[in-house]
Amino acid sequence: MRDQHGEGADGEGASGVLTIDLGALRQNYRALRERADPADVAAVVKANAYGLDALRVAPILYEAGCRNFFVAHLSEARPLQGCLSRDARIFVLNGLQPGGECAAADDGIVPVLNSLEQARNWAAVASNAGRELPAVLQFDTGMSRLGLSESEMAQLIADPSLVRGIDILFVMSHLASADEPDSLQNTEQLERMEKLAAAFPSSSICFANSGGIFLSPAYHGVLVRPGIALYGGAPSSAKPNPMQPVVRLDVAVVQTRTVQSGARVGYSGTYTANRETSLATIAAGYADGLPRSLSDKGAAYYDGVRLPIVGRVSMDSMTVDISALPPGTLSLGSFVEIIGPNQTLDMLAADAGTISYEILTSLGRRYRRCYVDPVIADSHSTRSK
Ligand SMILES: *Cc1c(COP(=O)(O)O)cnc(C)c1O
Repeated sequence: MRDQHGEGADGEGASGVLTIDLGALRQNYRALRERADPADVAAVVKANAYGLDALRVAPILYEAGCRNFFVAHLSEARPLQGCLSRDARIFVLNGLQPGGECAAADDGIVPVLNSLEQARNWAAVASNAGRELPAVLQFDTGMSRLGLSESEMAQLIADPSLVRGIDILFVMSHLASADEPDSLQNTEQLERMEKLAAAFPSSSICFANSGGIFLSPAYHGVLVRPGIALYGGAPSSAKPNPMQPVVRLDVAVVQTRTVQSGARVGYSGTYTANRETSLATIAAGYADGLPRSLSDKGAAYYDGVRLPIVGRVSMDSMTVDISALPPGTLSLGSFVEIIGPNQTLDMLAADAGTISYEILTSLGRRYRRCYVDPVIADSHSTRSK
């Protein structure tokens, strides 16, 4: 039951509390389904579901109707199989490293084939096994990262035996600038994707990430692959964020002090107080995923009041200016908000000069994690009536 309480402060001596709202996750999945309809919606749960714990996140999405899950590496696929029913398909975005193919085939894991070499290896395993093996065929439409090049595509069209024994479930590509709706790169990639679709008329298209879902239905294909939007990050940099926030982060106060004008704060003394200043040292630093680039830049919040970060962010702590609060408001054991109603994930990322993805995947293991599920909480309260 303790898991059902999302409040920051608790009696367990945690340095920070990362609250993950599984209800908001579910709502985001449903909202994306509505937006993408009639396309189906997969979930990208790579990097441990962007740091939120794939084994907690994936079953919630499965319950909400998700049957297709994407991870980056084969090593991420197996643990996921353990927490999902057998009708869930798990795709490996980076494809397989040499030697991983047989195990993947045995486990029914579906690789994304990013090169003719990966395709050949998979076809050889299919041939040895004497059965068809499923795969996704990825093409590079302009990102130069993963996928078959145009010349490899021409080779494949000239010689379809290259993928003999492979059941191509989807033809796939990835958008480089989907979070920028006005970028011409989107339309260029869409044109290439449309050519691909014409070259593989019997294949289904898998194209859009979170940003792509909000570009236009032309990008949706048959299956969309959101990650960040599920976890509450803004899918588009140009528009207000339509997703529900999933993550809240509260960090404990370790110590407060008042310093005189001229006092220097933190490593290298980058900040000098220009008046009497009240400070609080809080128990999270760059080893907890709050980048050093927030030094003298970002802020924490308390009761809606902005508390600027002063001085360098340390490994395990940082210092905030709490002069705007009435004296004595904060003390050892109080919690301040780092991500929450006053400061979104995207605002924090912008102050750090990075993106929500990097913040989420860096939050680390030192916070107490609190998974809140209003559905379970409701069913508890109904039962107790
Ligand atoms: C990470 C990733 C996604 C998910 O992207 P979001 O921007 O988080 O929605 C989709 N497709 C591929 C190929 C990816 O690498």
